[in-house]
Amino acid sequence: MAKKYLIETYGCQMNVHDSERMAGLLEQAGFEATDADDDADLVVINTCSVRERAEEQLYTRLGHIKGLAGRTGRAPMVAVTGCVAQQEGAQVLAKSKLVDIVIGTQRVKMLPVLVAQAEAASQPLVDVATPYDEPTFPLGLTRRDDPVKGFVTIVEGCNDYCSYCVVPYTRGHERMRAKAEIIREVEELAASGRREVQLLGQIVNHYQAPDDPACDFAGLLEAVQEVRGIERIRFASPHPRHCSDRLIAAMRDLSKVCRHLHLPVQSGSTRILKAMRRRHTREEYLTLVEKLKTALPDLQLSTDMIVGFPGETDDDFRETLSLTEAVGYHSMFSFKYSPRPNTLAAQRMPDDVPEAEKTRRIVELQALQKGIQASLHEASIGRTVEVLVDTTSKRRAWELAGRTSGNTVVNFPGESSWLGRFVPVRIERAGAFGVWGQPVQAATPATEVTTC
Ligand code: SAM
Ligand code: SF4
Repeated sequence: MAKKYLIETYGCQMNVHDSERMAGLLEQAGFEATDADDDADLVVINTCSVRERAEEQLYTRLGHIKGLAGRTGRAPMVAVTGCVAQQEGAQVLAKSKLVDIVIGTQRVKMLPVLVAQAEAASQPLVDVATPYDEPTFPLGLTRRDDPVKGFVTIVEGCNDYCSYCVVPYTRGHERMRAKAEIIREVEELAASGRREVQLLGQIVNHYQAPDDPACDFAGLLEAVQEVRGIERIRFASPHPRHCSDRLIAAMRDLSKVCRHLHLPVQSGSTRILKAMRRRHTREEYLTLVEKLKTALPDLQLSTDMIVGFPGETDDDFRETLSLTEAVGYHSMFSFKYSPRPNTLAAQRMPDDVPEAEKTRRIVELQALQKGIQASLHEASIGRTVEVLVDTTSKRRAWELAGRTSGNTVVNFPGESSWLGRFVPVRIERAGAFGVWGQPVQAATPATEVTTC
C-alpha cells in the first residue's frame, strides 16, 4: 500500500508554491496525499520565519503531533522544511526529538531521497546546504490543486538586506530563472486549463532573463501575454524602486496584466524607511503612486506595513497613518515589528517600542485601513465587474466566489460548473473584506479545467 503524506504550510505564497512542488516530488516517489494527520506516514511542516510568531507555530504544531502520537501509538516521520529549517538547521533536532529530517530552502528537491535515507538509517538527517546556482526544484513535477490559477517562480532569494528582514539569510542570494523555462511552465499551466498565472519573486520586478539579455521584467510580461489560454497575469512582490516607466507602460498596454499592484511600503516615515534600508522615501513612493494612478486609473493597490520598528516615534507612526489615507489601499497586510536573527536591525537597533504600544498602533492602523477598504467597496455598488470564478462553496453548490482584475473578492450565486469562467457580476452589497452581487448573464465558457 502507498505511503501517505501530509504537508502543512505556513507563511507566504512562495511557501505555498514550494509545498505544491514538494507534493509533486513525493507523488513521483510513490506517496499519496492525505488530509488527516492520524493517517499520515510522513508529515512535512513547511515553515516561515519572517516573524517570530510564525516561527513559534512550528513548535506548537510539533507539540500537537507528539500528543497525537501518544494517544494513537502511531508516530509519523516528520520533516521540517522552509525558512526555520534553513535558519536553525540541527538545532531543530535539539529542540524536538520528534523531527526526523531538517531540509533547507535550497535542498527541498532532496526530500524523497532524505526520507528514504532517514528510514534506512533510523536516525535524523539534516541538509541545509546552499549550493550556488543549482536549481532548487526540478521542473514539471509540481502538484497543483488550484484548477484556475497557478504560481510560477521567476526569482528566488534576495540581495536587498532590508534591515528587518530574514529572507536573504533563509532563501539565499537572488537567482533568476531562465525566460525559456518560465514560459514553458506558463504554457503548461495554460494547457491544463488554468486561466491565471501569478509570477513570484521576493523582488519580482528586478527580473532579468539570464538567457535573454534584452528581457527585463516588462519584457517577461510581454512574453507571458503571448501565451494562449492565459487570461490574467498577476505578480508579487514588486519593489517600488524597480517600478520603471517602462514597467508602468507595459502594465498599461498589456491587456492580461491585472489592475492590481501589491506595492509594499513598510512605513510612511522617510526616517524609518532609511533605518529599514528600503532605499525609497515617502515622497518617492507617493510620486510613484501618482504616476501609477495616472497611467492606470482603475488600478487597485495593496501593501505591507510594519509598525513599532526600532526608534518609531508617535510622529513617525502618524506618517504611516497619513500615507495610508493618501494612497487609499484596497487591502493591507500589517505586522508588528519582531527582531529576526542575523538582521541588521536585530543586531544594531534596540527593539524599543513597547509591545503594548505596538499593539495600540497596529489596532489603530487596521481600524483606519478597514474603514478605507469598506468605503472603496461601497463606492463599487451598482457597477458590473468581470469576475474569474475560483471558489465554489463546499456547503452550498450555488455559492460562488472569485476576484476582479483589481483583486476584490466578489461573492455571488451561480452554478459550480462556472469554476474557471469569467462572469459579469452587478455589485449590490459591500463589506470591508469583499462585495456581494448577482450575475448579469451566463458565464463565458471555460477552456477545459483540470487538476493535476
Ligand atoms: N519581498 C517583499 C518586499 O520586499 O516587500 C516582502 C517579503 S517579506 C517575506 C513579507 C513581509 O513581512 C514584508 O513585506 C514585511 O512587511 C513583513 N516583515 C518582514 N520582516 C519582518 C519583521 N522582522 N517584523 C515584522 N514584519 C516583517
Ligand atoms: Fe526582505 Fe527587503 Fe528582500 Fe523583501 S526586499 S525579501 S523585505 S530583504
